[in-house]
Amino acid sequence: MALFVHKYGGTSVGSVERIRHVADHVMAARARGESIVVVVSAMSGETNRLIALAREAQASPDTRELDVLLSTGEQVTIALLAMALIERGCPATSYTGSQVSIMTDTSHTKARIMNIDTQPILQDLQKGKVVVVAGFQGVTRAGDITTLGRGGSDTTAVALAAALKAAECLIYTDVDGVYTTDPRIEPKARRLDRITFEEMLEMASLGSKVLQIRSVEFAGKYNVPLRVLSSFKPGEGTLISYEDDSMEKPLISGIAFNRDEAKLTILGVPDRPGIASRILGPIAEANIEVDMIVQNVAEDGTTNFTFTVNRSDYGQALAILEATRQQLEARQIESNDGIVKVSIVGVGMRSHAGIAAKMFDTLAHEKINIQMISTSEIKISVVIDEAYLELAVRALHEAFELDHPPVAS
Ligand code: ADP
Ligand code: ASP
Ligand code: MG
Repeated sequence: MALFVHKYGGTSVGSVERIRHVADHVMAARARGESIVVVVSAMSGETNRLIALAREAQASPDTRELDVLLSTGEQVTIALLAMALIERGCPATSYTGSQVSIMTDTSHTKARIMNIDTQPILQDLQKGKVVVVAGFQGVTRAGDITTLGRGGSDTTAVALAAALKAAECLIYTDVDGVYTTDPRIEPKARRLDRITFEEMLEMASLGSKVLQIRSVEFAGKYNVPLRVLSSFKPGEGTLISYEDDSMEKPLISGIAFNRDEAKLTILGVPDRPGIASRILGPIAEANIEVDMIVQNVAEDGTTNFTFTVNRSDYGQALAILEATRQQLEARQIESNDGIVKVSIVGVGMRSHAGIAAKMFDTLAHEKINIQMISTSEIKISVVIDEAYLELAVRALHEAFELDHPPVAS
């Protein structure tokens, strides 16, 4: 019997009524003869509510305790879904992450899955049960509860699909697939029938939160066919898979953006070996991740050095940089937490020149100033003022003709 892992996100389980709808949906699949393991998120808004409660109790919550708290969100929905299934005469059992031994490392709030014991799940499936597993959570060897980072239920689902060798991992959400860009920003965004793992990984890393980055990494590594589809409306959704010859090869597949960025510049640093490491070393020691980096050409023996960090790390990064400025006797610091990163992504870029020029031209035409640029084989990113985010996304969407089905080249 073919085995499928279904994952239902927060909106899809946002009320008991919606949970009943999920139960109907799961039973319809079971009636087609499929074995089903279901992964659910907490009800929409619940994880945010719990984080706010934690902050009321402790300004910077202890991460072990935060994980104990956050894991309760998913514990509520697994039980409710199992009840709704049993109510409909469908045998079902719910499990928390620790009950099915989703073993993780000890990095609280961003733990990585190391191993899953599939035996209890397989036994239940053999008995004809639907197995309902809590997303987003795991357990360490010492028995501590961990969580997998925001959006982590996607990763639970993919990891289970890999461990159980499922035929497909179906991510049911509030949109009916992966779009050329976030449909909330560009209503003309178009659903993609297929996208490669590589492109999806770039889109997710560059800010498209439709799938957690790690879930895409995991699916690519273990070759788990992954599909994003709507839990409200029927359809094929978007299949994420390896590139093959039958696929459309548009130059650009999508536009991603990230609002969570901040930019810091240290001006007038002496231009000598070791400067980059003197500036970024203390930032790395504070566990702050640096995204884009630009060092200018030196003039008069000094240079300017700019980098971006996550907005939540902005204050801390600024304080560290100020200390570095004093040590290096650099002239000044400039900083800005009102910036965003907009990126275009596509495997077709590899074999085509002129994509960057077209992107810059489009932004210039809208009088949008580009503050930083970074490129890789299949993406080009720019940093711009946050006020121009929507305008930039829509202008690029139109310039690269993403609202129309791509014409094969
Ligand atoms: P869930 O709660 O089901 O996990 P998420 O909110 O995590 O759902 O992800 C779905 C949302 O991702 C959509 O509502 C959409 O606004 C957003 N999104 C961002 N980029 C894209 C994209 N390229 N395609 C589709 N949805 C996107
Ligand atoms: N409930 C968690 C979150 O809101 C995990 C998830 O929904 O995937 O981030
Ligand atoms: Mg999500």
